[in-house]
Amino acid sequence: MHRFFVPPDWLEEDRVTIAGSLVHQIQNVLRLGPGDHIVILDNSGWEREVEIARVGKEHVSGQVVDKRLASGEPRTKITLYQGVLKGRRFEFALQKGTELGIVEFVPVISDRCIIANLDDVDKKRERWQRIILEAAEQSRRGKFPRLRPAMLFRLACEGTRRGGLSLIPWEEAPDMEKATSLRSVLQQAEQPPFSVNIFVGPEGGFTPDEVELARQYGVIPISLGPRILRAETAGLVAAAAILYELGDLE
Ligand code: SAM
Repeated sequence: MHRFFVPPDWLEEDRVTIAGSLVHQIQNVLRLGPGDHIVILDNSGWEREVEIARVGKEHVSGQVVDKRLASGEPRTKITLYQGVLKGRRFEFALQKGTELGIVEFVPVISDRCIIANLDDVDKKRERWQRIILEAAEQSRRGKFPRLRPAMLFRLACEGTRRGGLSLIPWEEAPDMEKATSLRSVLQQAEQPPFSVNIFVGPEGGFTPDEVELARQYGVIPISLGPRILRAETAGLVAAAAILYELGDLE
């Protein structure tokens, strides 16, 4: 059954009225019509099964036939603070991170970012938001991940004051052999963390000063092993390992 996130005000009681480009998608792309069922989500954590009643040029209307808690959300809330990457690489991290179960993305401008200003990043926001929404629908998420405004590295570190376990994968740790492993950090935690912040650098990685600043905010540098992962891979590997270790991939 196809799933669609819609603005909450399209829902009233036990009816939904769909407008905009979704009408074309339902009518002409998916060729759905009266009697077909779809799932409508308003990002509240609930999902509604809807039977299509009428398909018009401007609107599609339907009747809610079932309302249930939306599944598909992990217990562990992971925020990925991702150094902004050039071109499609950042979009890859958004799409795959959404499929994996990341709940929040924060684009970060750090010293070695090739895209060096916030305006350029903000221009991509709408496209990034669409990529997240489509990935959330495709992967049957119960809620779509939040895309925070782009911010400078120091402000991103401030964000960790909200709490949770904060990690900064760093491949240049002076003594990689002794670098803290992700597994040891998770196993040493008194109880499974409810939220985890992961900082991943841009193409050029983080500078030692940035890692030192993160450390001052209680962010733990960790190794993701001896192989150097591309920037868009590292956050996914860390998130997948955390979700696996904490039982969120069952
Ligand atoms: N130059 C490559 C690129 O363009 O993608 C690699 C970029 S750099 C290594 C990207 C980020 O991935 C780093 O800032 C770090 O956060 C993370 N990373 C990659 N491999 C890692 C590893 N083996 N251990 C810890 N962090 C790693």
